[in-house]
Amino acid sequence: MIKERKTIPYGRQEITEEDVRAVVETLQSDFLTQGPKIAEFEKRFAGYTGAKYAVAVSNGTAALHLAGLALNVQPGDKVITSPNTFAASANGFRYCGADIQFVDIDPDTYNLDFQKVKLLLEAHPKGTFRGIVAVDFAGYPVDLEKFKSLADEYGLFLVEDACHAPGGYFINSKKQQVSCGSGEYADLSVFSFHPVKHIAAGEGGMLTTNSLSLYEKLMRMRTHGITKSLEILRENHGGWYYEMQELGYNYRITDIQATLGMSQLERAEVGLSKRKEIAKRYDEAFSVGKIKTPCVAGEVSHAYHLYVIQTKDRKGLYDYLRTHQIFAQVHYIPVHLMPYYRNLGWKKGDCPVAEEYYEYCLSLPMYPTLTTEEQDFVIEKVLEFLSA
Ligand SMILES: *Cc1c(COP(=O)(O)O)cnc(C)c1O
Repeated sequence: MIKERKTIPYGRQEITEEDVRAVVETLQSDFLTQGPKIAEFEKRFAGYTGAKYAVAVSNGTAALHLAGLALNVQPGDKVITSPNTFAASANGFRYCGADIQFVDIDPDTYNLDFQKVKLLLEAHPKGTFRGIVAVDFAGYPVDLEKFKSLADEYGLFLVEDACHAPGGYFINSKKQQVSCGSGEYADLSVFSFHPVKHIAAGEGGMLTTNSLSLYEKLMRMRTHGITKSLEILRENHGGWYYEMQELGYNYRITDIQATLGMSQLERAEVGLSKRKEIAKRYDEAFSVGKIKTPCVAGEVSHAYHLYVIQTKDRKGLYDYLRTHQIFAQVHYIPVHLMPYYRNLGWKKGDCPVAEEYYEYCLSLPMYPTLTTEEQDFVIEKVLEFLSA
């Protein structure tokens, strides 16, 4: 009898007994939402990234929208981002009415191309652009020190979309490790706790910052713009009194999700080293042949949310792997070529590097519970296809 093989997805969450116990405990507590677990999760997450403040929200997209609101992005503001990302990196600012400016990617790191951003800024009068949203694509940390000095020169804000990169870091010019989300250079960093990301909470997101004023604004805006803070109340009628001073949203996370996120955060470093081991085994297996493996420059610690290869017959390989129950995935269809952004004037040829990359890229299975046997099977099938 042929043994039925389990499907192998490109990414998946791990839920342990401890996770289940922790969540059940919260379910049986007094608070399902707006209780103590949220603040505890924020404190621990801030500790993990090294940032002063963290604000937990309902998902990563809400975090990006709040980033735009907190930075006072207005209709027509030109915000620069990468086309090689999930649409939310652009959409969060588009919700504020921003005019999204896609700038092409670096052919090695697949992140926003620093030189191209610099050239774009130099080609326009100061004040033309409002900000930069840099994405740590696949977990490869952006050199935020470089982007920060450029942002300062042109009076721009700098947001890091670190959804792929919790635990990653780059080395700055002073030879220090700068963690993704540390608040050292970016005004705000954004994370997601969707199950396919490093830390799963069902749904969930987080912003980190070193700015007290941004932190306070985010805390108000995630719950309708409501405040009870005595220093800023215009009146005070008693203990029940609050004011809605700005138009905010309900972007709150629940205590249930915060508990799961916190329990997962405990294992984040273990998961990260497992991801690095998996990447190393893929790197070795594909060191010779017709595959381009991810760039591993010495100045970063890659967080390997994704393991992306590039190969000529990408569609053939994708289909072949599927016939063996291996569900590789493609990251990303360039955002500027989505019909919505095409309707705003973007077209093929605007970001040729990201477009060419898209023709060849494929994300192979990458998650901490991927077994050696499963990975060997993936490698075997990839090599089999390429040698056919
Ligand atoms: C997942 C993701 C988001 C959005 O996060 P959600 O929690 O799914 O809303 C934003 N940016 C990037 C790069 C992501 O991978």
